[in-house]
Amino acid sequence: MGLTDIRDRVAKAEAAAGRAPGSVQLIAVSKVQPLERVEAVLEQGHRVFGENKVQEARGKWPAFMERFEGVSVHLIGPLQTNKARQAMELFSAIHSVDRPKLAQTLARLAQETGACPDLFIQVNTGEEEQKAGILPGEADAFIAEVRALDLPLKGLMCIPPVDETPSLHFALLGKIAARNGLEGLSIGMSSDFEEAIAFGATHVRVGSAIFGERDYG
Ligand SMILES: *Cc1c(COP(=O)(O)O)cnc(C)c1O
Repeated sequence: MGLTDIRDRVAKAEAAAGRAPGSVQLIAVSKVQPLERVEAVLEQGHRVFGENKVQEARGKWPAFMERFEGVSVHLIGPLQTNKARQAMELFSAIHSVDRPKLAQTLARLAQETGACPDLFIQVNTGEEEQKAGILPGEADAFIAEVRALDLPLKGLMCIPPVDETPSLHFALLGKIAARNGLEGLSIGMSSDFEEAIAFGATHVRVGSAIFGERDYG
């Protein structure tokens, strides 16, 4: 537990998978965590964070970004089109592009501002009704659509169903990425990031194993 331990385990998993050191980006997922815990991780030198809500991130990160140099925050939760502009201003990557309307809005704003965060398409690999993400059968067409909009598409993201073996979902996502020539794979959380690295993760999203359990009370 804790940043040092997780960094260590990421490095070991990279080596075990024959991956280059530093090839996996560790995103410290700071949603809901008390500010003191986030600050402690910033003080330890970590600079890449993940948040799942635009409002929460806007309340927290501008002040930290003034105090700490080189911070980047990734959006890993669903994005409503009416918050797309705010999201593009704050986040350096968006992992949750999941529908044509959102992609079109991002493209319009990118044209207007001349900038766009790195984008990942979220795929609902478990075809779960309550979960965001494009269905696997629609992924190839959607990837082509996002590319045609001239957006900076870096890769794919998934969140496996809680009660299923994550590796099956990592493998499926990797297959979709490979046949579309995409390198980025945003997979792996506290409980399975080492397995995700073995399956080619370029970005792991680790929250509670770094910061401790989230208290939603
Ligand atoms: C909260 C969250 C995580 C981190 O979960 P942990 O189990 O705390 O590591 C990763 N990805 C997404 C999309 C999340 O919402």
